[in-house]
Amino acid sequence: MRASTCKGCGAAIVWIRTPGGKSMPCDATPRYYIEKPRSGSKKIVTPNGEVISCEYTEDPHKATGTGFAPHWGSCRAAGSFKSREERNG
Ligand SMILES: [Zn+2]
Repeated sequence: MRASTCKGCGAAIVWIRTPGGKSMPCDATPRYYIEKPRSGSKKIVTPNGEVISCEYTEDPHKATGTGFAPHWGSCRAAGSFKSREERNG
């Protein structure tokens, strides 16, 4: 995991390497998530680089884990991302 700054919007991000060898830009602040492999409308990237369908939550007691939200979800300059990864999931 490598800390960086988004070139598009200046936000703090981290690059997380996936098992496939790609690096994904994610928000630097970890989020709680509830894993929902079939019905989750959001994506979370675990520190191991796994991308999981989920819903985000603020409640640590409901969360199934913590991970990092893909940065293109919140980036004001998201249009500049060429996010092949985004469409895979
Ligand atoms: Zn950004």
